Amino acid sequence: MVAIKGYTLTDAVLAVRAGQRDKARTMLDEILQCEPENKQVLLWRAGVAATTEESILFLERLLNLDPANRQAKESLDALHARLRRKRPPEERVAQRVWKRNCELCDAEIMAQQVKCPRCGGIDSLSSLQEVVENQLKDERLVLEARRHWEDRLRKSATAEVHYRLGLLDLNTLRNSEALFHFEEASRLGNNYPSVERAIQTLRAQRLILAVDDSPTVLNVLRPMIVRSGMRFLQAEDGEQGLATFRRALPDLVVLDFQMPGMDGLETCRLIRKERLKHDAPVIMLSGKLLDKLRAKLAGANDYLAKPFEEATIVRTIRKLLAK
Ligand SMILES: [Zn+2]
Repeated sequence: MVAIKGYTLTDAVLAVRAGQRDKARTMLDEILQCEPENKQVLLWRAGVAATTEESILFLERLLNLDPANRQAKESLDALHARLRRKRPPEERVAQRVWKRNCELCDAEIMAQQVKCPRCGGIDSLSSLQEVVENQLKDERLVLEARRHWEDRLRKSATAEVHYRLGLLDLNTLRNSEALFHFEEASRLGNNYPSVERAIQTLRAQRLILAVDDSPTVLNVLRPMIVRSGMRFLQAEDGEQGLATFRRALPDLVVLDFQMPGMDGLETCRLIRKERLKHDAPVIMLSGKLLDKLRAKLAGANDYLAKPFEEATIVRTIRKLLAK
C-alpha cells in the first residue's frame, strides 16, 4: 500500500495556479501512484514537468491510454519540435517507433498513422469531413467492432464506450448516432477539445430525415447527405418516420412514395398536419412520374423520380433549405 495524503486534482491545479509548480508536481505524482491511468492528472503532470523530456514521457503515457487525445498529440508535437530546434542535428534522438491500436478494429498500427491499414477507418476527430469522405477498406470489421462496443454499452455505459461508438458510427456515416454518442461521452467526462468540436460541428449541421422501406435507397442516400455536410437520420416505414419526425424535428424530410403499411402520401399528410408544431419541407421519391401531382396534393414541396442523381437530390435539398 502506498501512503497517500489524499491530494485531489483540484489541490494540484490550485498549486499550479499559485505558481507552486514543485508542490503541484509532488501532489500529482502521489495521485498517479493510486491512479496511474488518470488521463487528466497525466496531462497536468506533463504540464508541470521540470524538463521537456519529462513532459514527453507523461504525454506518451497518456497517449498510450488515449491515442486520440488531440491536446496531448499537439503538445507532444510541439515538444518534439522544440527539442529538434535546441539540439544540433548530430545529437538528435532518433524518433522512437511507437505503436498504438486502431480504435475502430483494434489492429496494431504505427502511432502516427491516421488511416488504419487493416479496416481503412480513421480514428481521429481532427477532421470530420476527412472521416466521412473516407472509403472503408473493410466495413465488415468496423461493423463487427460496433457490435462488440454495443455489447459493452449494455454492460456499462462509460465515456470510453460512447466515444468508441461515436467513432465507429462516424466511420460508417451514421452521423446522427455519432452525435448522440459524443454527447454522452462528453456528459460522462470525455470532454476533450476534439470531442467538443465534433459535437459543435454535428449540432450545427442541418438534419435530414429519410423515410424509405428499401435499405438500398437508404444506403444510397446516406453518403450523399452526410458527405454534403448534413446530418442523416433514417426511418424504415411511415409510422416510424412520423414518430422520428416528432421526436427529432428534422430540417427536411425525404419520403418514399410506396411503403408497406402507412404509405408515403399518408405520411406526408400527417407530417404536414404537424406544421404548427414543426414545419419542414418534404421531398417525395417515386419510381412513377404520374405520382407527382398526388405528391403535391399531399403537401410535398418537391418530387424526384427514382433513380435520382446525387447532384440533383443535393441541389433540391439545398434549394428547399435555403427558402
Ligand atoms: Zn482499424
